[in-house]
Amino acid sequence: MAQNKSREAMLQSLRDRTPISGAQYERAQAVLPGGLSSGARRFEPHPFYADRAAGSKMWDIDGNEYLDLCMSYGVLLLGHRHPVVMEAIQTQSERGLIFGAPHNLEVEFVEKLVDCIPCADMMLLCNSGTEATMQGIRVMRAYTGKTKIAKFEGGYHGWHDYALWSYIIKPEKMGPLDKPALVPNSAGIPDEIKETLLLLPNTEAAFGLIEEHASDLAGVMIEPVNGVGTLPTDPAFLQGLSEVTKRTGVPLMFDEVVTGFRFALGGAQEYYGVIPDIATYGKAIGGGFPIGAVGCSREMLEHVVNSDLPISVAGTFSGNPMSLAAGNATIDFLIQNPQIYVEMAAKGESLRSSFNEFARRKGLPGTMTGVASLSQVHLREPPINNLRDLLEQDFDALRDFQLHLRYNGVFTPGFHWACLSAVHSEQDIERAVEAHQVSLEGCLSKS
Ligand code: PMP
Repeated sequence: MAQNKSREAMLQSLRDRTPISGAQYERAQAVLPGGLSSGARRFEPHPFYADRAAGSKMWDIDGNEYLDLCMSYGVLLLGHRHPVVMEAIQTQSERGLIFGAPHNLEVEFVEKLVDCIPCADMMLLCNSGTEATMQGIRVMRAYTGKTKIAKFEGGYHGWHDYALWSYIIKPEKMGPLDKPALVPNSAGIPDEIKETLLLLPNTEAAFGLIEEHASDLAGVMIEPVNGVGTLPTDPAFLQGLSEVTKRTGVPLMFDEVVTGFRFALGGAQEYYGVIPDIATYGKAIGGGFPIGAVGCSREMLEHVVNSDLPISVAGTFSGNPMSLAAGNATIDFLIQNPQIYVEMAAKGESLRSSFNEFARRKGLPGTMTGVASLSQVHLREPPINNLRDLLEQDFDALRDFQLHLRYNGVFTPGFHWACLSAVHSEQDIERAVEAHQVSLEGCLSKS
């Protein structure tokens, strides 16, 4: 591991190590806004320009090797270029890339999904998590004949107009804990959309609000584990939410875009033992190719498909053979190797406990929270009970933490996730632990 350096010295040495990436970023800025196709990929001194990847490693275009703890934001449950996925896409590519017609894989794939997902008898397929939550919202609205959707403060459900509200906002705009303010996270979202949303707090006050607004509510959506903080969810809270939605007849939607097939074959609903009415999927189920899906009961889907004005869903690429070939191979592998879940969770736990024990021993304000294979670093001491507690940390140091990780050869997303795959080895975890420890000390030292 490299020794700690000052921020400027570290930036300079990253620049020295990545001259080709620096030049690429210059070029990119002329044609892509901010030089990027996703804002989440912003990084100092410039983005990571990936050249190739294998298993748990990625190489940038300057030839540097990194341990990948991003896994394409949770997509790569079997790591980069897993042999079963590579073989499946090779076979499919020889038969056809896209048909614009139904094909066998569609049925086979969805049959497997509904076998694994407790709340689903039937599924709709689309192309991203964002599309999946749009479809899920449409299904709930069509089913109930109502408009308003309740979402939780800090919940991310993709970037469409109905979802991108009060995700990460400035503390001064947040409003009280039990009555958070509904604020858009992007320019270009019509103000009128506000009327279609009810923002819920991450406290039991949410249950009262659902009761109060039930007659207007088409549905309640929640990330069963919040991606913003990766704080373990209290199963009693999810249970309470399920009870209040059942009692009031409001459909409950779990956004399992991250948690689906990551925590268990049955996702967070199996992991926490709370079954929603409808759930959305993306990321891992495409095995590395774009995908989204919505699952719910036969009764709910048949109702919205067979009514006087049926719901309409379409999509040139929906259910495309390459995504389904990669997804199908991934799901098969997971079904045949259920020990993966136990192993990934143990590695996640080992990373978290090593980091937390180190921080306590050194008296440093660092806490790694998480569930199973998903973890996140926060620069504050425990306890962290809710997302608002995360506001009490040194955000400049947190930004430097990621710089230190990159400097020490570890690639993580901007928000300090450590996302493991089935192919992260014990040695990878040791490397991750060491890099996280050095980075914690480094980002807090003011030298
Ligand atoms: N829901 C959740 C919980 C997510 O984490 C994401 C993406 N990070 C989305 C929806 C949107 O998915 P996509 O980026 O594939 O549109």
